[in-house]
Amino acid sequence: MIRICCASLMLLLLFTMSVAAIQDGDRPGYRDTPLIPGQKWRVHDSERPWPVVVDPGAGNLPVPAPKDAIVLLGKGDLSAWTSGGQKARWAQVDGAIEARPGSGNITTKESFGDMQLHIEFRTPPEVKGNSQGRGNSGVFLMNRYEVQVLDSYQNPTYPDGQCAAFYGQWPPMVNVCRGPGEWQSFDIFFTAPRFADDGTLASPARATVVHNGVLVHNCREFLGPTSHRSKPSYSKHAPTGPISLQDHGNPIRFRNIWVRPLDEGGEKGSQ
Ligand code: MG
Repeated sequence: MIRICCASLMLLLLFTMSVAAIQDGDRPGYRDTPLIPGQKWRVHDSERPWPVVVDPGAGNLPVPAPKDAIVLLGKGDLSAWTSGGQKARWAQVDGAIEARPGSGNITTKESFGDMQLHIEFRTPPEVKGNSQGRGNSGVFLMNRYEVQVLDSYQNPTYPDGQCAAFYGQWPPMVNVCRGPGEWQSFDIFFTAPRFADDGTLASPARATVVHNGVLVHNCREFLGPTSHRSKPSYSKHAPTGPISLQDHGNPIRFRNIWVRPLDEGGEKGSQ
């Protein structure tokens, strides 16, 4: 009798565990994190609605750099990049660069504030892992504000962590990811934050993001530098900073990266 009870208990336990695993797989994320300031959702909220999937249509990449752009990555040349002051250790493959797991983030040698930034990336053709473990990287503006890179093609994750999200803050308006191994693009129009002399925030960082030709953030505010499982908050920093690309342990490729620092006052115009 006792043996039968134990067996039933074990079966029940196994069933409960498998249901929990399915639920985790279906809606990855957290419910024990702080609320995102000004929103009704928690950081990485598993219950937040997933952005609608939209086919972006045929791509037209690569996009040539305008003549006044600073080319940060031409034909896989890493000379504009560094890794902690050392030579950037990502691989150069077929005119692109590839994150080598464990090689660390790479960072531009030059710093930027307000800018137009074009980036092309490709998640690995061979699908491995799921949720945040599949094709994860990121574009960090001013080395702080992340626009997430992830394989979000049929890969559920928490919405504020999917591809093109302001990680931990805002999901993209729609999911326009191309499939694994296909080249994709971000066009990011970024306004750096401004700080008063006393260190308080005068105006937050903002970005408009176009993913594969489709608007996914419209002059959206960053709530502070990117953080994981915690509430973002600002502290004063320099008016410019480098762009960095994240090594998150997945062999993501990047190519054709160019930037146009913005001159909104027209100071550099000719007479
Ligand atoms: Mg990332």
